[in-house]
Amino acid sequence: LTPSQFREEGKKIIDWIADYYEKIESYPVLSQVKPGEIKAGLPENPPQKGEPFEHIIRDLDEKIMPGITHWQSPNFYAYFPSNTSFPSILGDLVSSGLGVQGMIWATSPAATELETRVLDWLAEMMDMPEKFRSTSTGGGVIQDTASTSALTAVIAARERATKFRSNKTGVREMLVAYVSSQTHSSLEKAIKMAGIGSENLRLVEVDEQFSMRPDLLHELIREDKKKGFHPFFVCATIGTTSSNAIDPVRKIGEICKEENCWLHVDAAMSGTAMLCPEFRYLKDGVELADSYSFNPHKWMFVNFDCNVFWVANREELISTFSILPEYLRNKATESGEVFDYRDWHVQLGRRFRSLKLWFVIRHYGVEGLQFHIRKHVEIAQNFTRWVKDSNEFEMVVEPALNLVCFRHKAGDDFNMALMNAVNETGKAFFTHTKLNGQVVLRMSIGQTYTEEEHVKQTWNLIQKTAGRMTQG
Ligand code: PLP
Repeated sequence: LTPSQFREEGKKIIDWIADYYEKIESYPVLSQVKPGEIKAGLPENPPQKGEPFEHIIRDLDEKIMPGITHWQSPNFYAYFPSNTSFPSILGDLVSSGLGVQGMIWATSPAATELETRVLDWLAEMMDMPEKFRSTSTGGGVIQDTASTSALTAVIAARERATKFRSNKTGVREMLVAYVSSQTHSSLEKAIKMAGIGSENLRLVEVDEQFSMRPDLLHELIREDKKKGFHPFFVCATIGTTSSNAIDPVRKIGEICKEENCWLHVDAAMSGTAMLCPEFRYLKDGVELADSYSFNPHKWMFVNFDCNVFWVANREELISTFSILPEYLRNKATESGEVFDYRDWHVQLGRRFRSLKLWFVIRHYGVEGLQFHIRKHVEIAQNFTRWVKDSNEFEMVVEPALNLVCFRHKAGDDFNMALMNAVNETGKAFFTHTKLNGQVVLRMSIGQTYTEEEHVKQTWNLIQKTAGRMTQG
């Protein structure tokens, strides 16, 4: 394509995306295809000759779209939100257009400096501790996912615990890490990949709200020390995946200080709520954390992928991840005056992701973002009220924010059948989890265009479907 053909085709693609959003509610939210169906519709061999763009778009409509589950539908309530917004899409498009590889400052100074500035803005917008800012001892870096940030935190903690020796010699100490039984599986994966070993991961029991019990954490650490283990890492979660439980960060942080453990806080989805002062009590004690991560790609209108990882002490991170081959040597790096973000995580190459974050923050402003977050929480509170007012359904936990965990009183099989029946209508899509061994239905409210009316209609659909099932 020449630039002028690109202009022409590009406008059509923008139109295609805008049309998609205009008719998004007409698609079944959950893709209805069977395994293998999409692949079977695609030629087995690649084209030998280039094809006209219109053929690609035709096949996009006919062959790809049936296999799309519409995460951006206002009736998507499954898993967690992975919302986006037009400013984010445009910011990402500019990033693709520029095609810069921001691995070090010198490979595109703006990619590094915008990222530093925007993450400092975010720290201010969320009233994060001073130490997480680049102007202090720490700073933030954008990673692909919360899973990668968890791995980064575990490796940095491992290095600190071994006095910066394990990168050279491997892990010789009997290091042990602690998470709750509700912590996201990415922490277990990180512990395995960092060479700690999943046998050295302790699962701390939770209370009736599914929050980590700090007394049991402390007991486990003391017992492990007596047995000759070296406790080195704890992860507290603000908003667990299953039920949005909030671990008591302050109490856990105090134990970490006393026992010399790295505290990582995983606020993957719920971190976005910290934009609103009234929800910041949920992060009480965060000044005791060594690292903190959240996903603007979940609830902050920034399209996947975009995870924010803050550390209190960037020197520890850089000492862990820095490596300087000859071909990357340059004056700016050697001057020590710049950040080279490839020293802050696992990967070398990096996309210019701060652009989409910058577009979103500038488009909405802090107040615009707060407005949407508050709306989602309010809708979740209203949904909770409707559940409480019904005779057939019950709440499982009080929602902290935008995730409602509820169930029909008729038991596990009924709840699964109800969920499948509603999802098969294509009118809404929600998922389940298990808490205390029981099936629980989850309404995760956070798509960009979800209004109370959508949720009300879905609640009516759930009730009607349940009614039909109990009669039938
Ligand atoms: N942590 C929590 C609490 C989550 O809910 C999730 C996602 O579901 C993750 C971590 C993993 O997020 P990512 O897909 O960004 O790795």
